[in-house]
Amino acid sequence: MSDLPLPCSSASDEQPIIAAAPAARRTRQARVTWGSRVVTVGGDAPVRVQSMTNTDTVDVIETAIQVKELAIAGSEMVRITVNTPEAAAAVPHIRDQLDRMGIDVPLVGDFHYNGHRLLADHPACAEALSKYRINPGNVGKGDKRDRQFAQMVETACRLDKAIRIGVNWGSLDQELLASLMDANAARAQPWDARQVMYQALVQSALQSAEAARDVGLDPNQIIISCKVSGVQDLISVYRALSQRCDYPLHLGLTEAGMGTKGTVASAAALSVLLQEGIGDTIRVSLTPQPGEARTQEVVVALEILQALGLRSFNPSVTACPGCGRTTSTTFQELAKQIDDFLRAQMPVWRSRYPGVEQMKVAVMGCIVNGPGESKHADIGISLPGTGEAPAAPVFIDGEKALTLRGEGIAREFQTIVEQYIERRFGTVNAAH
Ligand code: SF4
Repeated sequence: MSDLPLPCSSASDEQPIIAAAPAARRTRQARVTWGSRVVTVGGDAPVRVQSMTNTDTVDVIETAIQVKELAIAGSEMVRITVNTPEAAAAVPHIRDQLDRMGIDVPLVGDFHYNGHRLLADHPACAEALSKYRINPGNVGKGDKRDRQFAQMVETACRLDKAIRIGVNWGSLDQELLASLMDANAARAQPWDARQVMYQALVQSALQSAEAARDVGLDPNQIIISCKVSGVQDLISVYRALSQRCDYPLHLGLTEAGMGTKGTVASAAALSVLLQEGIGDTIRVSLTPQPGEARTQEVVVALEILQALGLRSFNPSVTACPGCGRTTSTTFQELAKQIDDFLRAQMPVWRSRYPGVEQMKVAVMGCIVNGPGESKHADIGISLPGTGEAPAAPVFIDGEKALTLRGEGIAREFQTIVEQYIERRFGTVNAAH
């Protein structure tokens, strides 16, 4: 019977178990540039990380500072709102300010409703931006729509800028949706309304891409997104998109929400798609919790890519969750201390110690998994659980190297980690 479970087999001569790895998807490659900085998107480029400011763009200093923070956190492109003539006028000054600070991250302009006018009236803004996000759902109505869309694309062509055709179900092209609804109603067996909506999202993006090409835009300069806020909806829409075009895809769950909910929903949706090779650049749209740094959305994006093995940004710290075998909080504190320390050092270490971002550190709570997990790491420590001898063996490159005891374990382990990094990754620079 089909609902019976498969028989179990412990035979050792079966096929080897294949290591899971993200699939590869072939896309065109877009180039988003500022000065000598070139951020490739799609093709053989790594999956890129993007973010968006939440400052008033008119406030040049505040916006430039936030862009800088996002760039330093790891965002490879930063989008800013360009919604008014004042905001458009501020854009070149934000760019100047960033250049003066040595931040060459490309800026992306987010346009809705009046982008055609702002780009035409503010040529310095059009020049200072490296990419334009165009939302086909609100570029204009009726016959104005095509004209205004073409105007924006013409500017992109003239200045050799990339564009993202960013469809969002919250601002979907209502004329297109209405026509697809009508066509659906005429079907002998009408589709589910949700399926019509998926179709509208994908068609809006692909028809706009064709329209941009008709205007003369290089197809390699087109990036597509179709953002929705439901995990399964996003997976459905992007699977369809990836089958129907070879443009690089910008991936993100729109309005993901706050805190744990937003983080988990984004990770769930993006991970499924990235594992299938779908997605060339990502943004995690987290609503910051009161007092939370805007950079948290970048931290989450980096963690998603690193967890999937797509990119390495920071050394990873493996820590056990703790259980009844250790009532001490020492291992939690040490894990956090080491993690914070490694992250804080990375802006400098990235160039000083190439490869350090792939290092694995283990901080474990007792003898059950402590020594084993520590041996799998580059460097690991197994702290004593309840009732165990007060000794913490340290493992380096899979071998037990020494045992720490007493009050100063945390400080001594951090020093050992620093020495290890200098010895293992510092030699690369010393050799050159
Ligand atoms: S390593 Fe020890 S303390 Fe940590 S979760 Fe496992 S059994 Fe519990």
